Amino acid sequence: MSSFVRCVAVMLFQTACVPWALNPTPPPPISMEPQAALVTATIGGAPVRVHAIPSGTIAVKNCHRSNCLDESANYRERFFSILEDEAFAEPMPIWSYVIEHPEGAFAIDTGETPAFSDARAWSCDERAGQLSQAILKIEVDATQTLAAQLSGLGLSPGAFKAVVLTHAHADHVGGIPDFAGVPIWTTRADFEAGTNFGIIPCRTTRGAMLRYLDDAIAATPPVSSAEDAQLGPGLAMTRDGTLRAWMTPGHTPGSVVLRLTTDQGLLWFVGDLTFAASELGETLAGIHGDFEGVKKTTAAIQALTSAPKSVILASHDPGVPALLSGWRAASP
Ligand SMILES: [Zn+2]
Repeated sequence: MSSFVRCVAVMLFQTACVPWALNPTPPPPISMEPQAALVTATIGGAPVRVHAIPSGTIAVKNCHRSNCLDESANYRERFFSILEDEAFAEPMPIWSYVIEHPEGAFAIDTGETPAFSDARAWSCDERAGQLSQAILKIEVDATQTLAAQLSGLGLSPGAFKAVVLTHAHADHVGGIPDFAGVPIWTTRADFEAGTNFGIIPCRTTRGAMLRYLDDAIAATPPVSSAEDAQLGPGLAMTRDGTLRAWMTPGHTPGSVVLRLTTDQGLLWFVGDLTFAASELGETLAGIHGDFEGVKKTTAAIQALTSAPKSVILASHDPGVPALLSGWRAASP
């Protein structure tokens, strides 16, 4: 199995296949049980509720978590080093964010489901399944999916206004099938690169109502704002413009960041730009496709969040519940 995974990886990158044994050790036991968090605020005086909802946990290899190669290593070298690493780092939450906005409900990412560990679910792309399972350990049961937890909150995925993906890696797109009939905003850049790379799970996007942010931005007249000056042209996801998205290539070719403007301040959803807000600008850890892009977006987010009343919400940051409550306490 391990040699097979390695050969598949090598074939994917079109180089000679020299199989050597992988000897993965079992991941450490889950030492954390992330809990959902909720913050309430207002937009133009109307209530808005923002939920951070964990669909289980993800563990990446130590090499992935700590960025074991320097920046001169290319993506292929980086991927192989991660593949060869035998040890997994501590599990992290897989956050999706749900915004009960005055204009309707929006989800930022969809988390993962138990299908990740089910070989049958990957029948449409076995290579992607083998590779994903080789480098990621995802623990999520049926009660922890985003859809299951939304139902506990009295929210129906099918009634959502839209889902916006920060990027199209497996742990962010697994819940898409639960949002049947809902527009799923991704980027053509990510979708096409992901399809070529084989990482976007076809099991989750087949039949989905995909919308491409990069295409929509190109067709929208630019506006003048501090955010667009820093991040490039963005797109309003709501009529009132309070939820806005930008394509920020780096972690993936079509990674996206979003900002929600409330009366109390700004919430920035940065996906996998960093593993944790406290690490932003301190380390480039992560399986980034383009470090220069990550640095550029990092500098922009740091500039835009230097003013008070901003909070940075990454997709795997164990500190999210504390960050949300701290933001709200500082923004009465
Ligand atoms: Zn992720």
